[in-house]
Amino acid sequence: MAFDPITHVTLSQVILPLRTAISDAKVFTGRQRPMTEVAFLFCEIETAQGLQGVGFSYSKRAGGPAQFAHAREVAELLIGENPSDIPRVYDRLLWAGASVGRSGVATQALAAIDVCLWDLKAKRAGLPLAGLIGPYRDSVRTYNTSGGFLNAPIEQVCENAQRSLSEGIGGIKIKVGHPDHRVDLARLEAVRAAIGDAPLMVDANQQWDRATALRMGRRFEPYDLVWIEEPLDAYDAEGHAELARQLDTPIATGEMLASVAEHVRLIEARAADIIQPDAPRVGGITQFLRLATLADAAGLDLAPHFAMEIHLHLAACYPREPWVEHFDWLDPLFNERLETRDGRMIVPERPGLGITLSEQCRAWTTATAEFGVSDRVLV
Ligand SMILES: [Mg+2]
Repeated sequence: MAFDPITHVTLSQVILPLRTAISDAKVFTGRQRPMTEVAFLFCEIETAQGLQGVGFSYSKRAGGPAQFAHAREVAELLIGENPSDIPRVYDRLLWAGASVGRSGVATQALAAIDVCLWDLKAKRAGLPLAGLIGPYRDSVRTYNTSGGFLNAPIEQVCENAQRSLSEGIGGIKIKVGHPDHRVDLARLEAVRAAIGDAPLMVDANQQWDRATALRMGRRFEPYDLVWIEEPLDAYDAEGHAELARQLDTPIATGEMLASVAEHVRLIEARAADIIQPDAPRVGGITQFLRLATLADAAGLDLAPHFAMEIHLHLAACYPREPWVEHFDWLDPLFNERLETRDGRMIVPERPGLGITLSEQCRAWTTATAEFGVSDRVLV
């Protein structure tokens, strides 16, 4: 195929308001305030032949404006590049910001661009992103998270759980880590009773110390959980490893880590049975795929964090049967909906990620930056 260079790049900062303020254990322990919105960085790229890609990164609470600012500084370098040379283009952007490092905000800004380049490459091939990478399956087991936050009364959590299962979602995750351990146990008991034998997970969002995590983990063993998520501080690889050895229930963690290098520490310490990388947080799809190779070689299961619109494709390409996290929060940003059936999320057949930005997404845009020349006729 003829060289088809990048001619135009648009970056957008979008603030997604949440319907209700969200609290997990970090709010109940006083570390964070309830979350009311999520900041997105969207990247849209056009090529000389008129191909268009879209990608995104995000930040919960602080960090969104910094991601946008960093991407705006380096995006000019994309003009004239071959959009299919993703790792080389990525490295070029990385060197432009080398002074601020290869993790965290700096690479999360690049993630929106990287995801966009993958979307574009899959569209050029006429394949869904999973089809371009190489899928093992055309649907992925899915569980719901958005119905199980600690701010929701337990009756509502049980109702949400039953509705999720009736909508074809395969499992239910609830938040734990409440400072009053009796609250956790009562909520877990109620949800287990409400959903019968359906797969159930809990997430403590890093709010236990090592002793508490072991005691709570032991009390949770009879509930036959699929996993206990983030029982400890995200960077306590040694503590997670000890817990994974002590408990029968699998340990899952990794969502807070901001680079492949940080995940390598987890993998080497055998700190988790199930690894939970987040492509936007680790710097994009290119980085995620490197990490997935290492995780598979170490024999780990995979359950990527958040952003199901991206992670559904990536999970479909993992050799071991993974889980994908169902969050309905991002639905208003896109014109398309992901289908769930028989406990699984179906990989869409649309080319690329299979998403287009909605009118509502445009209306929530608070800043944009454009580079290059667009052939698109504005109407
Ligand atoms: Mg979590």
